[in-house]
Amino acid sequence: MPEGPEIRRAADQVEKALTGRKIMEVHFAFDHLKDYEDFFAGADVLRVDTVGKAMLIRFSNGYTVYSHNQLYGKWVIRNAYNYPKTNRQLRFAVHNEKKSALLYSSSDIEVMRDEEVHLHPFIQRAGPDVLNDSVTSAQLIERINSKKFSGRRWTALLLDQGFVAGNGNYLRSEILFKAGIHPSLRPKDCTEEQIQAAAEAIIQLSVQSYETGGITNDIELANRLKAEGKKRPQYRHWVFNRAGQSCRIDGTPIEKIVAASRRLYFCPTCQGIEDLH
Ligand SMILES: [Zn+2]
Repeated sequence: MPEGPEIRRAADQVEKALTGRKIMEVHFAFDHLKDYEDFFAGADVLRVDTVGKAMLIRFSNGYTVYSHNQLYGKWVIRNAYNYPKTNRQLRFAVHNEKKSALLYSSSDIEVMRDEEVHLHPFIQRAGPDVLNDSVTSAQLIERINSKKFSGRRWTALLLDQGFVAGNGNYLRSEILFKAGIHPSLRPKDCTEEQIQAAAEAIIQLSVQSYETGGITNDIELANRLKAEGKKRPQYRHWVFNRAGQSCRIDGTPIEKIVAASRRLYFCPTCQGIEDLH
């Protein structure tokens, strides 16, 4: 599933394709949205916002189109009306003279008045989004230590969009590794240093992943491995998808477990629990 950084990158592409040119036509696949199609012809796209994994396309007619890709949704940007060959179902399309922004397979698409957006259940529930809100590590530390979150396991928190919007499965493993936190722990089991490191990693890894197209590994190390001819899966992450391979810090084989129904990767040495206070 795409995570916050991937959705923000997709939003950048949609924004680039659609802003600055009048919309010629909008297409919705779902019957209950068909009546909206005429609303959008001749309007402009003002900007494209994201809240975690949700995308909000803001139009000049006072309407916003909300979409969430869930597991299968995929945005494709093409020259106008130049549809790709695919077995996917086209669910939403915006066309201008030059470009078409095409959303395939997503079933979670809604049209709202701008002033209704904050009432949408997902938006209402979403925690801060480190790629869009100016969130500081101090604010995150306060959030992590709050009654609401400090007694829950990190492995559940880091997938909960109400905690921090945009985190997902690869970010979860990478954040815990960077913070040296064993996956069985809760914030209240952790040292101050671990909490601080987790707050910083939540921000830094998302921003870096957004800027680099998904690389959460140390960027100099990733560049060096790439220059040596290594493939993307070999330099992309610290621990995610690296079961049985050597920890990049100490050589310990990376372990894979299932936590909150999703696969998680960690280094039993860097993320050991024997040093706890
Ligand atoms: Zn290690």
